[in-house]
Amino acid sequence: MPLISRLRGRCYCAFCKTERSVYVKKHIDMTNVLGAMILAVAVAFVYYGEPDPRFVVLFGLFVLLGEAFVYLRWRASMVCKLCGFDPLVYKRSPERAAQGVREFYQEKSAKPEFLLSRSPLIEVHRREKRQQRRQQMVKSLATREKVAPPKSL
Ligand SMILES: [Zn+2]
Repeated sequence: MPLISRLRGRCYCAFCKTERSVYVKKHIDMTNVLGAMILAVAVAFVYYGEPDPRFVVLFGLFVLLGEAFVYLRWRASMVCKLCGFDPLVYKRSPERAAQGVREFYQEKSAKPEFLLSRSPLIEVHRREKRQQRRQQMVKSLATREKVAPPKSL
């Protein structure tokens, strides 16, 4: 366990290649353990009015809470906020990661503010809209010819 570990770092998303900031600290370090110890002693002292050996229980609780918080923060920062890609899910199951990106895209593209974001999926959205417009145009041209057939000479 290191004395102090680095909290944040920068990396590139493996899917959309956007540079982003992530939490690299995965577990608590010695400084956090020391902080939990001081907090436990202080809380026990305030609660019982004198130095009390029951601070050990509080110390264990604070260490567990700190570890859970640091790990969950690290885990949440692994998911790309621009495309929804989760590299940890990808390592276990690429299909589930692809499904996650697809769901993220469908959920985000339904909202108008998605077009104002800097998500690299906007280009996919624009391409999809362009294709829909083209299909509608082809469909309307086909129905127009059925409604008004060309005049025969
Ligand atoms: Zn991404």
